Amino acid sequence: MSVAYLYHPDCLLHEMGSEHPEKPDRLNVIEKQIKISQLKEKIHRYEAPLATKQQLAQVHDSQYIEKVLNFVDESGVGFSYLDPDTMLVINTPNAALRAAGAAVHATDLVLTNQHNIAFCSVRPPGHHALSDHAMGFCFFNNLAVGVAHAIKEYGLNRIAIVDFDVHHGNGTEAIFANESRVMLCSTFQHPFYPYSGTDSANELMISMPLSAGASGEHFRKAITEHCLPALHNFKPEMIFISAGFDAHQADNLSHLHFLEEDYAWVTKEILAVANQYAKGRIVSCLEGGYALDILGQCVVAHLEALMG
Ligand SMILES: [Zn+2]
Repeated sequence: MSVAYLYHPDCLLHEMGSEHPEKPDRLNVIEKQIKISQLKEKIHRYEAPLATKQQLAQVHDSQYIEKVLNFVDESGVGFSYLDPDTMLVINTPNAALRAAGAAVHATDLVLTNQHNIAFCSVRPPGHHALSDHAMGFCFFNNLAVGVAHAIKEYGLNRIAIVDFDVHHGNGTEAIFANESRVMLCSTFQHPFYPYSGTDSANELMISMPLSAGASGEHFRKAITEHCLPALHNFKPEMIFISAGFDAHQADNLSHLHFLEEDYAWVTKEILAVANQYAKGRIVSCLEGGYALDILGQCVVAHLEALMG
């Protein structure tokens, strides 16, 4: 499999304070692990472009886009809280535009057959971002912007999203709640932030809540019994992955116990579905993952599995 890898150093400049778990070093540990792995020679690197306002406006409210892009330091302290744990700082707009632009460019690379697969190693993450509202460390819903681009520019009719971040991707669910061309399969700890995901009436929103303490075995059972049959039934033309690695047992932000091999396993299962129905087309976007000592290994396991 030919894998594109999208990144941009601007994504390091968004910094919400040294104590904040969503920190620039998340991308640095991934880079470091890739450099010492066999992947270094195999991935095709691309600089993430800036998303355009038009691309963002497919899923975000224009007033909200302007609010993020035109940071006004009203209090003079250098930051502005958009939600209790999401701070807009002077370098946020560029980082957020690169993160969303990565998802758009990844989609273009895959749908113009330059690569079957693309991974966006970017931050800030996206899956909690609502159309008009930042939330849970997220500003723009990067993956949703990519999905909307695939629908608008390439006319895709069946796109599946698999989200295995430990938190429910409430933003993605809300954005596509009334979209019959998009299926969302998600595993998440429940009850847990953002306390959503179990009340969807839409049959294309496949939720697989996991109790605190659940292991990779519980995860694999949920994917095997609910996600994979739904994907086979839906027959996606393309698959997007919200790749969050914060359900790892070493991650202090959650209480699940996944391991690197669980991420490799689910990735292989998703790839098999993509090969069967979707010409192997996958765009994967980094979401959460805050344990700096294992995040790099998790991403490498994911990328190695994507290479087949
Ligand atoms: Zn998360």
